[in-house]
Amino acid sequence: MEKKFVHKKGGCICGTVKFKVSLDELPRVFSCHCEDCRKKIGGIMSIIELRENAIDIDKSLLSTFEHIGGSGNKITKYFCGKCAAPVLTFVERWNKFYLYAGLLDDISILKKSKNIYFEESHFPFMEISEKNLKP
Ligand SMILES: [Zn+2]
Ligand SMILES: [Zn+2]
Repeated sequence: MEKKFVHKKGGCICGTVKFKVSLDELPRVFSCHCEDCRKKIGGIMSIIELRENAIDIDKSLLSTFEHIGGSGNKITKYFCGKCAAPVLTFVERWNKFYLYAGLLDDISILKKSKNIYFEESHFPFMEISEKNLKP
């Protein structure tokens, strides 16, 4: 069966960073509650796993920040050099880019998300049903 892709556009709040991305019809979305992600963006974050070369973006407009994640993985966060909006995260261990889901102009195809590191760390006001937890 041939895979269908959906083409979407997105960008940051100041308009400096704009991109086109091709996503699966039902993209793999993770909502991470870990402390690192929380500290990086100040809240819960949702990211979309990207296929190789799925995003068309001018990386020269992005600034980067590198850190070692909880599991020892090197993680590089790419953000708008002007407004500091988070755009991409690269996880060296998986050799994959993840797009911060909120950067898409149209979020209607994001129908499912797995919550990760929920047990370890989450805002007490959040309730999530078992079926939305990973695995
Ligand atoms: Zn995280
Ligand atoms: Zn910006």
